[in-house]
Amino acid sequence: MKKNEIYEITIEDIGNDGEGIGHIDDAASGKRLAVFVKDAVPGDVAKVKIIKDKKNYAYGRLEEIISPSKDRVEPRCKSARACGGCTLQQYSYEAQLMYKQQKVANCLERIGGIEDAMSYMEPITGMFTDEEAQALEAKSEFAGRIRANVCEKGHWNYRNKAQFPVGYDRDGRLVAGFYAGRTHSIIPGISCDIQAEVCEPILEAVLAYMEGNGITAYDEVCHKGLVRHILIRVGFVTGQIMVCLVINGDKLKYSDKLVDVLTGIEGMTSVSININKERTNRILGDSCKTLWGKAYIEDYIGDVKYQISPMSFYQVNPVQTAKLYGKALEYADLSGGENVWDLYCGIGTISLFLAKKAGKVYGVEIVPQAIDDAKQNATINGINNVEFFVGKAEEVLPREYKENGVYADVIVVDPPRKGCDEVLLDTVVTMAPKKFVYVSCDPATLARDLKYMLAHGYKLEKVACYDQFCHGGHIETVCLLSCK
Ligand code: SAH
Repeated sequence: MKKNEIYEITIEDIGNDGEGIGHIDDAASGKRLAVFVKDAVPGDVAKVKIIKDKKNYAYGRLEEIISPSKDRVEPRCKSARACGGCTLQQYSYEAQLMYKQQKVANCLERIGGIEDAMSYMEPITGMFTDEEAQALEAKSEFAGRIRANVCEKGHWNYRNKAQFPVGYDRDGRLVAGFYAGRTHSIIPGISCDIQAEVCEPILEAVLAYMEGNGITAYDEVCHKGLVRHILIRVGFVTGQIMVCLVINGDKLKYSDKLVDVLTGIEGMTSVSININKERTNRILGDSCKTLWGKAYIEDYIGDVKYQISPMSFYQVNPVQTAKLYGKALEYADLSGGENVWDLYCGIGTISLFLAKKAGKVYGVEIVPQAIDDAKQNATINGINNVEFFVGKAEEVLPREYKENGVYADVIVVDPPRKGCDEVLLDTVVTMAPKKFVYVSCDPATLARDLKYMLAHGYKLEKVACYDQFCHGGHIETVCLLSCK
């Protein structure tokens, strides 16, 4: 295999970053080498130019499609190929869902040692418009494999949070947009088909305010200039909107003019600045100042109300989140008197969802501010049967068990990508709750942790996948385990 040479490749699989994967039989080494090709999808036969040769694998650029996959579709977004955001837009939505479901099953089998993983899996839940859902029913190949969560916009405009970088294009014009794949150059063009539509007029208004008042954009190379990012959050149920400008300074000049233009947009509830003067890739700094309106917006998941400030964590796909939490609640199968532990609870989203059906819910989370939000959210919903702990789940649960003799009928975990610490799983096994519900954003670590649980007295009952990140590669899974 040689750099800059063109090969004809059949794409067979999808990699972790959404890129297509094919193979070349390398005559020189006698090896079969994997080639990662961005923008190619399984089933494509394509001419691919090798751009990086890494000895055991290579990266290729899609030069020409010789025969397209039956699942290839025209991306809806004009910038899909350049943008680093959606990686699967050229793959039909049904094919995306089938791929994600299969990826989870493969992990459960290969890493988790679970035989015939598909037999535990419920149909994957995707987002469809009414019309699409009807069309789906007519496609027999997906019968019993895909469940439609019917919503107004289907799998588009589903995100409630966007963070647009601000900068200059080659001609020195002020732009806001998204980063191109693997770079920090901004693709100008402020319409994004997975964000709330209101982002577009908001960005226009902010850019016009900046231009009209001589406000500069931040330049990360020389660490000069003011506005770094524009953070937008929308409460999908309440319609409330938050705009927060992340700035490399303490003050925003003529901020009253910014407020003037933004308050003309229906639903505007909170306008603020966040101060981030560090040379860092982190988007938000540690302090916020409200310029106008409230310091937060409100939204609902199911009938639980949440207050969301610029810095708090909140699920980005509220429509699917409600379904996912509903499933976690169904798996927990509460009848009213149970003791439930919700580990990695964030702002208490799952805890409060469960509290209405449980005797008592205990939440554990490492970030103190998230626990402040969790307590506040309990108060505004009049929920009293919850208690929250700040700390590492793998420290708090063993401590409470050993020192205070706490017990659990049900334990729910929702860890970050790296999964659960073995000390924690060991404590769960010792406490032996009847049910263990695992919510996961990474099928590989999920499978690793399930393997541990299955070897220590637990039995896998059911698995359900929810497409929270339509057109992106990630997938959210919820599993039910029972104590043998
Ligand atoms: N269940 C919440 C949050 C899930 S995200 C929701 O659905 O909204 C995972 C959370 O785990 C994050 O809030 C993160 O801060 C927290 N976390 C990470 N490591 C942790 C640990 N060792 N112990 C407790 N919480 C942890």
